[in-house]
Amino acid sequence: MNTPHKFNKDNSYWKFKDKYLEFEKWGGVEVIVSLRGYKKEIKDSLESKAKLITGKQVHGNKVLVVSEPGEYECDGFITNKTGIYLGVSTADCMPVFIYEKRNKIISLLHAGRKGTQEGILAEALRILKQDFNSDAKDISVLFGPAICPLCYEYDLWENNYQQAKDMGVTDIINPEVCTAENLDMFYSYRKERTPERMLSAICLK
Ligand SMILES: [Zn+2]
Repeated sequence: MNTPHKFNKDNSYWKFKDKYLEFEKWGGVEVIVSLRGYKKEIKDSLESKAKLITGKQVHGNKVLVVSEPGEYECDGFITNKTGIYLGVSTADCMPVFIYEKRNKIISLLHAGRKGTQEGILAEALRILKQDFNSDAKDISVLFGPAICPLCYEYDLWENNYQQAKDMGVTDIINPEVCTAENLDMFYSYRKERTPERMLSAICLK
């Protein structure tokens, strides 16, 4: 198999930490993705440090502004509250991390095919602008590991990239790590039909 999106430990975006990947380029924001087999351990460890907010993930485009721990009926969260983790579970669908640095706001989305088609990333950016008066130039977007356009007929990378670009965001980081090409690290629903997931989480310190 040709694997152009195989994870390389010299990846300049994701730092490999044995049980999870960490993105360390946003000062003051913790961004992690649990690796294969470590979701529960990472979840427990996050919960011992701070409260975790999760969603029922119904593959929609609903994004909620949250400040209290719990499980919500949505696929995306926004918060400006420090010390709580936003979390989404995926295996091929794309976790999208957002950081608005001027007002210190974070967001995390579960962007699968349906959610992407319904414009979940555009919706999160719209709420940032409407509710927080965020300016696109202060917003950074990071794509977590997800199935690539070579392994799946729908291009999550390009369609989400386009949404962010259309909303005026220029700082869009896609480390191009494919779940299906890295089964030693991630789960791939398409490849394995597995019920297992990775946990992505973001927290404003
Ligand atoms: Zn791939």
